[in-house]
Amino acid sequence: MRIAVFSARSYDRRFLSEVAEREGHELTFLEPRLDRQTVSLAEGYEGVCIFVNDTADAEVVAALAAGGTRLLTLRSAGYNHVDLAAAAAHDITVARVPAYSPYAVAEHTVALMLAVERRLHRAYNRVREGNFALDGLLGFDLRNQRIGIIGTGKIGEIVARIMRGFGCSLRAYDVVRNETVRDYGVRYVDLDTLFAECDVITLHCPLTPETYHLIDAEAIAKMKPGVMIVNTSRGALIDTRAAIEGLKSGRIGNLALDVYEEEGDLFFEDLSDRVITDDVFSRLLTFPNVFITAHQAFFTEEALRNIAETTLGNATAFEAGEASGNELAEEAVRGDHRRQRP
Ligand code: NAD
Repeated sequence: MRIAVFSARSYDRRFLSEVAEREGHELTFLEPRLDRQTVSLAEGYEGVCIFVNDTADAEVVAALAAGGTRLLTLRSAGYNHVDLAAAAAHDITVARVPAYSPYAVAEHTVALMLAVERRLHRAYNRVREGNFALDGLLGFDLRNQRIGIIGTGKIGEIVARIMRGFGCSLRAYDVVRNETVRDYGVRYVDLDTLFAECDVITLHCPLTPETYHLIDAEAIAKMKPGVMIVNTSRGALIDTRAAIEGLKSGRIGNLALDVYEEEGDLFFEDLSDRVITDDVFSRLLTFPNVFITAHQAFFTEEALRNIAETTLGNATAFEAGEASGNELAEEAVRGDHRRQRP
């Protein structure tokens, strides 16, 4: 199949090209993000391959359909950037990579927790400059801390397993209960109890209309003073302005982010010689107790290999008229959410 690959970076070329050759797909790598301005680049391509900050809203989907696209294959698990109803209406199949390496994201989550609370970002710079003072680097033991996991799916489950190894006490909130995490000593509680009891709150649920700004001013006010919040899921789970107020008041003691609600204008680009015009993001960068990575939690060899295999495997199945099992049907997704409600 001829596939236009949007938001293509060197690592996408490397991993996707290897699989494409074997599967017999012809890939065109395009650096721009897919959006209303760039959608014309996809004209004539039966397959279009996109990543998390591409936009496939109703208008883009209609333009893709008009240009002959029949398959939208996502290099991601999350699909909040795709209008599934529009895709269904235009008979475009949407397929994703449901799991590529939950370990990559879970391990990065734990790396962020340790990095922010032991102030490793500050320590690294200090030592390089010959400053061996410890003032300002005081951390805390993770052992015996209460960790609140919101979303105990594939990634949340592994985070629970790792944090059990640290000797933490585990609480969780999810709309569906995962029996495996109970074996790690996880106790399910309601959201308000999790907010009130936990020292560390880590987000592993998808971004949906129900979870948009799940962590807002009201939620932050219910949390323990000095709480650590970690988000490796999707930026818009947190109301960033409310988080900034929480940091200023001291209610939030540590904030570690791999995602940011307006990351589409920033992440995955080298902007080091430009002025950052996002004042909210810039304010975040001024706090000593904020640690940010630019959506790199997934970024391991294992994960990229699995993403390439599944993304192009979805195209192979589509071409053969078969289902890969990774297709997102609008009704199925709606049904899934209904099923997930308590
Ligand atoms: P998953 O589908 O296995 O688990 C998600 C869990 O969230 C499920 O148990 C589901 O029941 C729960 N959930 C759904 N709605 C909820 C709600 N309203 N409140 C609480 N829980 C809810 O997904 P996963 O593979 O564990 O991935 C989790 C998220 O991580 C993805 O949605 C994606 O946004 C994010 N992610 C980020 C990266 C990265 O590089 N930073 C990489 C992969 C995935």
